[in-house]
Formats: sequence, C-alpha cells, structure tokens
Amino acid sequence: MHYAHTVIPGTQVRLHDIDPDASGGLTKDEGRERFASFNATLDAMQEELYAAGVHALLLILQGMDTAGKDGAIRNVMHNLNPQGCRVESFKVPTEEELAHDFLWRVHKVVPRKGMVGVFNRSHYEDVLVVRVHSLVPEHVWRARYDQINAFERLLTDTGTIIVKCFLHISKDEQEKRLLAREQDVTKAWKLSAGDWRERERWDEYMAAYEEALTRCSTEYAPWYIIPANRKWYRDLAISEVLVETLRPYRDDWQRALDAMSQARLAELQAFRHQQTAGATRP
Ligand code: ADP
Repeated sequence: MHYAHTVIPGTQVRLHDIDPDASGGLTKDEGRERFASFNATLDAMQEELYAAGVHALLLILQGMDTAGKDGAIRNVMHNLNPQGCRVESFKVPTEEELAHDFLWRVHKVVPRKGMVGVFNRSHYEDVLVVRVHSLVPEHVWRARYDQINAFERLLTDTGTIIVKCFLHISKDEQEKRLLAREQDVTKAWKLSAGDWRERERWDEYMAAYEEALTRCSTEYAPWYIIPANRKWYRDLAISEVLVETLRPYRDDWQRALDAMSQARLAELQAFRHQQTAGATRP
C-alpha cells in the first residue's frame, strides 16, 4: 500500500511514530484525482463481487470521535450500488445485547456473500471504550483479543474478506474539529459534551488502540492505519486499501461469472431447441 500504514502481524504498533498529517507528497487535487480512479475501480469490483456471490466484503472503521468515519463512509462508498451495501453502526449495547456474549450482536449483521458490509465502530469497542471505562474486569476484556482473532478467522475461512481501518487523527486536529462544530449552528446537532469528556482520556484510548492493533492484526485480517488529519488523504488511503485487497479475488469472481454465463446460455439453447422441435413436429 502506498498511502496507508499496514500493521505487519506480530509487530508492536506505536501511533506516535505514524504521522496523522501525511499527504504522501501529493497535492489535494492530485489526491482527489487518484481517489476518483480507485473509486471507479471499486465500483466495477463491487458489481463482480455482487454477481459472483462467492465472497462478502467487511470494512471495519474505527477511530476517535471526529476522526471521520461518517465522512469516509459517505465518500468511499459514494460510487457503489446501494443494493449491495449495508452500513452497521455500533452504539452502547442494549440490555439484551449485554445479556449475550459480545460478538452476538456483531455476528448477526456480518455481510452475506455478494454484499459489502461497513461497520461504523465494531466489536473493537469491546477492547477500547470497555477497557478505558473498566466496563468489565480486565481478565474479561483481555481474553477478547484472542476471541476476536478466532471470530475473524471463522469469517475469513468462510468467504468474508475483512479490511480494518483505524482513522488516525491528532489530538490537536480533534480539538479543531470539535470547536468547528460549535461555530456552525447548522451542525449543532452533532455536538456532544461526551466527546469532550472522552477526549480527556485520549492517552488511555491511544494505549487501548495500540494494543488492539498490535494483537489483532493478522495475515487473514490485517489492520491498516489511515493518516486522517487530511480528509482527502483519508479517503484516498481507504480506497486504495480496498482496491488492492480485492484485486486478487477478481479472477475467482470472473471464473464464477463465466461458469454462470455458460450455464445460462446452455439453458437458453436447450429451451430454443425444444421450441424448434415442437414447432416442426407434425
Ligand atoms: P458515533 O460517535 O459513532 O457517531 P454515537 O455518538 O451514538 O455514534 O456513539 C456511539 C457510542 O457507543 C460511542 O461512544 C461508543 O464508544 C459506544 N459504544 C459502542 N460499542 C460499545 C460497547 N460495546 N460498549 C460500550 N459502549 C459502546
């Protein structure tokens, strides 16, 4: 990948060492141009994924408040066919969800084959906010790294392609974005005192993210760190990760589509043959 930082499985993540302001040496216009080209490819890929019905794609987005999860979903999914996409947002668990294991609500909404599922927050909240606020004892959230890896292994073994992106903004950038919301009366509905409260725990969140990214980046479901202070760069980096992750599967989809085409044509030929035979029968 050129724009995102791949978390190599088994390596320790240090978010400090990754520049959230990265621009890849591109201007905004150059970045937007490349993004448009990735987006067009993604559109074609989604059609093949949908029609072939062999795999599902699951995009997991995590990040601090204002990191741009909503904006990334809007821009990166912009060209896709809405019939083949579904976005799931994970909020504070309900009483019923809490009465089950933490993956229960997640497993129910993973995408079926042919579909693109986007998680706006995810099961990773169960080792992030839950850890920072001590919502369960430490031994419970600690066990979850392995449980998450096993869960994601099950999904990838059964045809789900998983892409996990952490939108990495700086603490200063978050402050700017929170203050900007206060200036814009039309966006006041976005304001939340809770965002400022969570911000006080920034360092604890960073520690929780570092451990989650380190322990749960695997060969089969790697984590990508997306420099996200610049929104255009964030979109570019995510779209590149998606396109490059999906590219190797295109041959599989093409084979499935060719086999489908042949079966349909043979069916049609048989039908026509039957019709002609019927018409010439005395
Ligand atoms: P968002 O910030 O994603 O736009 P909300 O403002 O409704 O949407 O925030 C959702 C909240 O739900 C976040 O504060 C998040 O930390 C919290 N949340 C999500 N999953 C869990 C969980 N498993 N346990 C506790 N809180 C959670």
